[in-house]
Amino acid sequence: MIPFVDLQAQRRRLGDRIERAMARVLEHGGFISGPEVAEFEGRLAAFCGAAHALGCSSGTDALVLPLMAWGIGPGDAVIVPAFTFVATAEAPALLGATPVFADAREGEFNLDPASAEAAIALARAKGLTPKAIIGVDLFGLPADYAALRALADREGLYLLADAAQGFGGERGGKAGTLGHATATSFFPAKPLGCYGDGGAVLTEDAALLAVMRSLRVHGHGTDKYDNVRLGLNARLDTLQAAILIEKLAIFAEELEARDRVAARYTELLQDVVAVPRLPAGARSAWAQFTLVTDRRDAVAAACKAAGVPTAVYYPIPLHRQTGYAHYPAVPCPVSERLAGQVISLPMHPYLSEADQDRVVAAVRQGLA
Ligand SMILES: *Cc1c(COP(=O)(O)O)cnc(C)c1O
Repeated sequence: MIPFVDLQAQRRRLGDRIERAMARVLEHGGFISGPEVAEFEGRLAAFCGAAHALGCSSGTDALVLPLMAWGIGPGDAVIVPAFTFVATAEAPALLGATPVFADAREGEFNLDPASAEAAIALARAKGLTPKAIIGVDLFGLPADYAALRALADREGLYLLADAAQGFGGERGGKAGTLGHATATSFFPAKPLGCYGDGGAVLTEDAALLAVMRSLRVHGHGTDKYDNVRLGLNARLDTLQAAILIEKLAIFAEELEARDRVAARYTELLQDVVAVPRLPAGARSAWAQFTLVTDRRDAVAAACKAAGVPTAVYYPIPLHRQTGYAHYPAVPCPVSERLAGQVISLPMHPYLSEADQDRVVAAVRQGLA
């Protein structure tokens, strides 16, 4: 069986660097807010050219922190794509705000700026105050932030980038610099993953950073026992930061390896199935390599028979999910069609050409 994501191959490549990094933390004992956290934050910001990075406990908390810092809550609307992982909509909903669902763009998996504009109008018609748009870098390609930023600026809204899958990608600039704030996740299977839960927020905005830094530790003020606002316990563990320092050091090379796998999949499959296409000048972090086909079940069955794992991200758009169907949504025909037609193939930097060929042969057999 080919692994869908091969974390063991990465670990072998890193040799004993992870173990040594973890041993250093065990030795100094600063498990919470130890020196590796700030070191990693500096390296992460430098990697993408963002002014600031703030480590936190998960990608979900990385979405909650900026929304909370902006004071978003009951009566406010946050525009989110219907075709994404649940955390994108969960974050505003947790704060009492109303997620308003908009559609994916035809030919791309990401939020359609025209549909987002319609969702802003729908929110106002429902008596809500639109406050923010969350663009999502689904499967690794950054959303169309140039268009979303223009829309957000015109409407006076915040633009939050959900780069949980897209950190390492580029589209008119590097992921991490494309919204007023960018959230990312270090869940193990993400392009840049740790060995547990973790996340980060990137921003150019020093004032936002200061509020999020307080929110990350219970809303502390300058006196640690005078808490000045309602906050969270949303820190990044020192051990995870130490692991991430080692993984970030090889991340640029891993992105190139992902590019090579994606290019080869594209070359060997594009004559039989719809493969992902990148806009000119854009780069995907290739969190997933996702096909669109009305013969998904046949592809999945052929792959399964050949020992090739596949996955469906995501089978139900958020506005159709039980816990979210009561929130407002503009028509989302593209999201609904994609949910029935997408299938993701094994994708990681250490996927050998022999294994790629096995995947390709299985997919082609499923489509034959
Ligand atoms: C994984 C993911 C998240 C949440 O990240 P966690 O670290 O699991 O909390 C949010 N948004 C998207 C698009 C994701 O893929």
